[in-house]
Amino acid sequence: MSLNKPGPADWHTHSTASDGELSPVELVQSAKASGLDCFALTDHDTVDGVGQAINTAQELGVGLVAGVEVSSCWSNQDIHIVGLAVDTSHSGLLGNLKQQMQRRQERACHIGLRLEKLGVHGMYDAASALASNGVPSRPHFAQALVDAEVCRDKKQAFHRYLAVSKPAYVKTQWPSLAEVVGWIRAAGGMPVLAHPGRYKLTRTKLDRLVSSFAEAGGGAMEVAVSNHTTDMVQYLAGLAQKYGLYASQGSDYHGPSMEWVKLGRFPPLPSRCRPVSEWMTPSMYLSSCK
Ligand code: AMP
Ligand code: MN
Ligand code: MN
Ligand code: MN
Repeated sequence: MSLNKPGPADWHTHSTASDGELSPVELVQSAKASGLDCFALTDHDTVDGVGQAINTAQELGVGLVAGVEVSSCWSNQDIHIVGLAVDTSHSGLLGNLKQQMQRRQERACHIGLRLEKLGVHGMYDAASALASNGVPSRPHFAQALVDAEVCRDKKQAFHRYLAVSKPAYVKTQWPSLAEVVGWIRAAGGMPVLAHPGRYKLTRTKLDRLVSSFAEAGGGAMEVAVSNHTTDMVQYLAGLAQKYGLYASQGSDYHGPSMEWVKLGRFPPLPSRCRPVSEWMTPSMYLSSCK
C-alpha cells in the first residue's frame, strides 16, 4: 500500500481537544481497532490534539494527518471548512485559531447567561469544566444539561435549548468562508467543504455554496459523509466534478455515545470522484501506516 493510494481512511474526526469524547491517543487506538490505515484529526477551531496523537499513531502504524475544522460564515449561514494537512506550527493559522477560541469563549458566556435567565443555573461553570481547554462548545453545554438532569440526553438539550433559534442559541459572527479558505491555504493545507448535505440548503443554494467555495480557493469537498443518503452522495459527487474539486470522505466521529456514527464508516466514494488522498504527499502524514 502506498501513501498516495491509502487503504481505509477517515478524513473527519474529533477528540477531547474539541467536542469529541475520546482523547487523541484513544482516538488513534480506536482508528487502529476500526481497521483504518490513516485518518485526520479535525477538531473544531484547534490543532491542539494533533501533537498528542503522533506517538501512538507512530507506534500503532496508523497514518495521521493534521487537520482542523474551522467555523465560517457564508450567506448568513454557519459553514464548516475542514483543513487537511495544515502546518500545525504556522503562526498565522495559530493566531487565527486563537481568535476563533475568543469568539467561542464570548459565545459560551452568552449561552451561560441565557440559561441563567431561563432558570437553569451553573451551566457555564459545568460546561467549562467539561472542556479540555476550558472553552465549552455547545455539546459541553448539552452534557452539562444532562448531568444536571435538566435534559434526558444531549439530543434533547439541543432540541430544547441549544440548536439554531432555540432559547439558548447565540449567533456568532464567524469569519467569512473566503477568509477561512485563505488561512488554510496559507498554512499549506487543503480547504475541504465539510458535510455539504447537512446545511439544509436547497440544491440551487448548495450549488452556489460550492461555486463560491471553489472561487475562494477551496480545493475539495466532502462527498462520502456518514448519514448522507446515496442520492445526496451522488449529487455531491456531481458538484465536485462540476467545480473541479477533490472529493473527501469522513465520518465526523465524535465518540462512542453517538451510536449512529462509527469511525471510518460512511458511504463509498463514487468512482468518478478524485479522492483528496491523491493530493496528499507522503510528507503530509505525521506517522507512517503499516
Ligand atoms: P459548536 O461548535 O459549539 O457550535 O457546536 C456544534 C457541534 O455540536 C457540532 O459539531 C456537533 O458536534 C454538535 N451538534 C450540533 N447540532 C447537534 C444536535 N442537534 N444534536 C447533537 N449534537 C449536535
Ligand atoms: Mn462537533
Ligand atoms: Mn461540522
Ligand atoms: Mn466535525
